[in-house]
Amino acid sequence: MSTQKIYIGYHVSASGGYMAMGGRAAALGADTFAFFTRNPRGGAAARADPEDAAAFRAWAEERALGPLVAHAPYTLNPCSDKENVREFAKLAFTEDLERMELTPGNYYNFHPGSHVGQGVSAGIEAIAALLNEVLSPEMHTTVLLETMAGKGSEVGGRFEELRAILDAVERQEKMGVCLDTCHIWDGGYDIENDLDGVLSEFDRVIGLGRLRAVHLNNSMNPCGSRKDRHARLREGRMAPETILRVVNHPALSGLPFILETPNDDRGYADEIAWLRAALG
Ligand code: FE
Ligand code: FE
Ligand code: ZN
Repeated sequence: MSTQKIYIGYHVSASGGYMAMGGRAAALGADTFAFFTRNPRGGAAARADPEDAAAFRAWAEERALGPLVAHAPYTLNPCSDKENVREFAKLAFTEDLERMELTPGNYYNFHPGSHVGQGVSAGIEAIAALLNEVLSPEMHTTVLLETMAGKGSEVGGRFEELRAILDAVERQEKMGVCLDTCHIWDGGYDIENDLDGVLSEFDRVIGLGRLRAVHLNNSMNPCGSRKDRHARLREGRMAPETILRVVNHPALSGLPFILETPNDDRGYADEIAWLRAALG
């Protein structure tokens, strides 16, 4: 392939700081990684140590790691109908973006939110309102909206919904999109039979220039099921060849690909080695 190198990583446990996370990821053959900025089910942020972050930056540069794709907690919901939940969203987002400044130039990915019956357009408005409060011209992080499966009242199951959020954000230059292959499949985008068509649709609606990262997962359920149950790369409803076509697609070259598959360390190392062998 004449395409640019892609980066392959997985979601590491955030315990022990940046150097520890980087060491664990590198040991499994990864050249990028994702991590939760705090307990994924909510609560206070894990303390970040500036010295550890500085050591990590030097180490990551030396090893030419790809961009990190940090993940916001699942409980972050800017379009909740409960005020305390919306307040937590703002607080967590603000604190996390501050923490991200310890490792400038990386990504902060979040699930746009669930409108819990208030309607998609009210949800979109609330999500954009939060972004307009927390994005600043000085920040060195790009915030990514994740494509969602459309489970329950999730916003972001259609490319058009992400586009509408982006359109309502003032600091467009701080925004991008992370494409989750399990989520879009569950959302009804058939990447098995028409990968080119789905990526053209993404380009037409959002623009491929906004695409900064991929969450690479198979799915336990059929296309359009709106379930969001991740499967290991070679064990889900999509054929393994479909996954390989995704990582080899020229429109996605140069991006970080993060595995969020149900695996232990050995399983991740095995999937990473399988991808690298297929990439040649
Ligand atoms: Fe996610
Ligand atoms: Fe994901
Ligand atoms: Zn998911």
